[in-house]
Amino acid sequence: MTKKKELAPLELSTKNVLLTPRRPATARRAGHVAMAGAAVAQREIPGRGVGLVAARDIDAGETIVAEHALLVGVSEEFRRVCCASCLAHGAATPCSGCGEVVLCDACVDPASPWHRGAGHGAVVCAAERVASAWRPPLSAPDRERLRFLGACAELRRAHVVNGDARARARLDAVLRLCPDVGPAGEGIDPREASAAERVRPALEAAVQAIIASTEANTAGGGLRAIAGDAVENAALLAKETKNAFGVMAAHHRADGSHSNDDSDDDRRVRGGAVYELASRVNHACFPNVARFDNFDGVLTSPSHEFHVPRRDGANPPGPTELRLVAIDKIPAGCEVTMSYLPVSESCARRRRRLRNTFGFGCDCERCVIECAWAREDGTATGDEGGAFEDASRRAREARDEAAELEADAYADALDRESNELEETANRSLDDAERTRRADRIPATYALWFVRNMCPVDGCGGTLAPPHVTADHMTCNYCGARRGDEEFFRRLDAGAG
Ligand SMILES: [Zn+2]
Ligand SMILES: [Zn+2]
Ligand SMILES: [Zn+2]
Ligand SMILES: [Zn+2]
Repeated sequence: MTKKKELAPLELSTKNVLLTPRRPATARRAGHVAMAGAAVAQREIPGRGVGLVAARDIDAGETIVAEHALLVGVSEEFRRVCCASCLAHGAATPCSGCGEVVLCDACVDPASPWHRGAGHGAVVCAAERVASAWRPPLSAPDRERLRFLGACAELRRAHVVNGDARARARLDAVLRLCPDVGPAGEGIDPREASAAERVRPALEAAVQAIIASTEANTAGGGLRAIAGDAVENAALLAKETKNAFGVMAAHHRADGSHSNDDSDDDRRVRGGAVYELASRVNHACFPNVARFDNFDGVLTSPSHEFHVPRRDGANPPGPTELRLVAIDKIPAGCEVTMSYLPVSESCARRRRRLRNTFGFGCDCERCVIECAWAREDGTATGDEGGAFEDASRRAREARDEAAELEADAYADALDRESNELEETANRSLDDAERTRRADRIPATYALWFVRNMCPVDGCGGTLAPPHVTADHMTCNYCGARRGDEEFFRRLDAGAG
């Protein structure tokens, strides 16, 4: 799964963040009962903003963060297929509050901890109804933004009307994420500011409908207190753009078997999710943690052995739970990093996409080596600027919808075109050149790929051990499992 900008904005979920530090393996084996300190701490990292660092030595296979989404949102394309509340695939029950989205069996079951009464939330249901009736119709991206801002308004309503302090805390956690925003909206790209302004009338109409229908409940809950002001809503859209994880369409079947049909469906984004801690983790092209989510039940499935005892007892992992699992040992004080893109992508493509989507030039070890090779070979490093820089600037500065769509399409086309050129050039290399390029790859680097890249063709996922004593690794994207024996066989055979 990738973290990417075209992610759908998000929607409300009832879930809270929890950090479940695991005891170090040694303490567990010694039978200690006391919890060790948290595995990770938030730190300002020079030149990289706030990130997470290991607060102690971490073992490969340790779950170092387990948390529920602050907000999840189904993408417009999947709103009749995926649960609006937890993004589960195959949801079929229309929401009783709006009829515009579907909910899964678990989320409509009153006995479920994820159940939240009639409909999927008063404000979010109202926002869906308003969106469907709006004329002229909202574009899909704007409807997703309205969905996200409606979810934020739902948190304000829960706080202002019901005194739910945890709802306000969730909204505040989203507001603490990057980018930093000044009191007059400094730090927000024009694109987000103008989008917030565009969807404001529909958002206010939805909130107004709630206020009108539940007058007795809304003492103190005026329009502004629930719908939020212009700067806060623009800031929230900016935070969503920079921090949401894209949740790809389901890749494996309910029984855990792997789907090999390579339909486009596999790479489409079913929705987005924002997390308090995982959204803080910085990028590296050789990451030391893999992100596993439970939208398709990977964490719950016994065959994947993700059953890790939790602080609150025997509860199975929740549907929007995310875990960051250490791929390797991480010594105390080292930064925790994940890859925002499939680790298999080429140097130039990774660097272009990181700059366009997240606005930074990656200077990780892998990029340093691969850029040097690219310069040696006279191929692209992804830093060529020119048309790419122009495209990403235009996308950030778009002040209306037409400009935004056009700039995005232009940037995507440039990326596709460059990628194709690169692939064609690679195919035309002769054997001697191929051998020369293969020979310069350091052994540690080659080993990383053999050990940590999913062996399933075209998957691009990352493998991590699901716990510290596992005899296999699990792919964080397709869920494939590779035994250690097979790994050593591949190693002996010189794969990679
Ligand atoms: Zn659900
Ligand atoms: Zn609804
Ligand atoms: Zn890099
Ligand atoms: Zn895979």
